[in-house]
Amino acid sequence: MISFARRRLDPFLPPFLRRLAQSIFRKYYNMGDCIFCKIVSGEINADIVYKDEHVTAFRDIHPVAPTHILIIPNRHIHSVGTLTEADETIAGKLLLTARKLAEQEGIAEKGFRVIANTGVDGGQTVFHLHVHLIGGQHMQHPMG
Ligand code: 5GP
Ligand code: ZN
Repeated sequence: MISFARRRLDPFLPPFLRRLAQSIFRKYYNMGDCIFCKIVSGEINADIVYKDEHVTAFRDIHPVAPTHILIIPNRHIHSVGTLTEADETIAGKLLLTARKLAEQEGIAEKGFRVIANTGVDGGQTVFHLHVHLIGGQHMQHPMG
């Protein structure tokens, strides 16, 4: 709803008002263009391995290991950097889903890596919160 109104209004807003609207609605502003929101809604195809009312998990389009799954909240959240107390349940669900999928993928016993790149310096390129579940090979160090 907000992103629909934004698309309609943006062309008519002078730049300072557009920036003001962005700062007020920062949390929601990019939802309409968010690739992961589109995967949740089914608008964009993905190899979905798990979905419930809270989270969706799908295989990364550029896997770096035999298992490389992204686990995301169905609701648009920008990153770990914008989580609030109200997101406590969903934050827990992301990690629990990682554990369950690690078992499902047969990598739980040997070990795996869970990563949440956060912000530009953290290497985040898609600004919809996600955790990477990576495994099926011995991980390299250092991570950076
Ligand atoms: P980040 O760099 O933000 O931590 O991770 C984003 C991940 O999303 C990258 O590993 C990238 O390969 C993956 N990715 C980006 N676009 C798509 C897409 O359209 N589909 C899938 N399945 N993965 C994507
Ligand atoms: Zn999104």
